[in-house]
Amino acid sequence: MRVLNFNRVWPTLTVHREAGDFSMCCAERDLPRGPGYGARAVRYPGIVENYRRTFLWLRDEWATLGLRPPPAPFPVYVFDLTETGNGLPHMFWDGRNSNWACALPSGTDKTTKRDELQFLRALAAHEGTHCYCVQQSGFFRGETYLPEPWHWISEGTAVWMELRLLDRLDRLRSNDALSFSRDWCDYPEEPMLTRGQYQCGLFMRYLAKRWGETLIARLWTEGTWEDDPWVLIRRLTGRENLLSDYADEAYFVGDPGSACYSPHIAARFHSRALAESVLLDDASAELVVPGDLRDTGTNYYAVRAYGRTHLSIAFRSDNSMCIATASAADSKLRRIGGPAVLAPDYREIPVPEGSDHLVLSITVEPETWVRPAKRNFHILVK
Ligand SMILES: [Zn+2]
Repeated sequence: MRVLNFNRVWPTLTVHREAGDFSMCCAERDLPRGPGYGARAVRYPGIVENYRRTFLWLRDEWATLGLRPPPAPFPVYVFDLTETGNGLPHMFWDGRNSNWACALPSGTDKTTKRDELQFLRALAAHEGTHCYCVQQSGFFRGETYLPEPWHWISEGTAVWMELRLLDRLDRLRSNDALSFSRDWCDYPEEPMLTRGQYQCGLFMRYLAKRWGETLIARLWTEGTWEDDPWVLIRRLTGRENLLSDYADEAYFVGDPGSACYSPHIAARFHSRALAESVLLDDASAELVVPGDLRDTGTNYYAVRAYGRTHLSIAFRSDNSMCIATASAADSKLRRIGGPAVLAPDYREIPVPEGSDHLVLSITVEPETWVRPAKRNFHILVK
């Protein structure tokens, strides 16, 4: 998060704009005289105005949801981010202001202005959300960032806020810019606690849909540095098998009946990737499918057996928190039956008329925050 060579950049960002709980600094490119600053200066004023509108929106959203506003505006530095690091937008501790701050790009390589502005709004909503979360009273420790068990919740909250913004922009007939949704669809097995932290945004969206949006804010207003976020989420929702509920719903991303219904994600990325498709091609066939998965990852298996009204399925694992559910899906990936929780003994699962396949959602649900370990399992089908 350290900004290299920043002392060279910030004195040149002499144009200031207030934006709700944020205070922006940038450089203008098209001055009648004076230094041009190259790519550091913003290409056209609409970029800064676009950030300003996003920060005003963000202030209103977090105020409504119940997060504490900052004691002084968060500084925002807009420049060519490749000058100081890897080019990525980020939040950092700004020692000059003793406050959390954002570094945001002065431009992008998007091929239309509309795509650029929407992308930049998403960046501002994401980094700005980090600033709010880290300065809530249970978490604020000056320049020390959040403890590791909260990193995935922090990324999830930031992506969730991006998704809310994009939903709103879509109502204004804008394009979608679902930058983290491809990984969510293509790599469901990546643990949300570590490599799949951005995927947690869709998990947050699921929580918000089922328990209300204020639940996301309560994670930050009721949680503290010492809390285990899993324990807090379970307390706030009253659910034990939260992740397996979510994993099953998340398969039906294009189904209006699902708590994870996201038509834009379904239209762009289709569905969450399958680990394996299993075909039982005669009535007496019996299959054993071995697999493994890390904590908070999800695998999906499609089981097809045309002409059968029931399948018998058993699920065995070396870990009691490795949970499997079965739901019946039609060819358009809408749910037409289930979910049923699978058990070590064979269980009869109905295959309803019109069913194209049974989808098995396997997930490992840790009881507390852990470094994701690999758990083995077997699916037995006959
Ligand atoms: Zn982030």
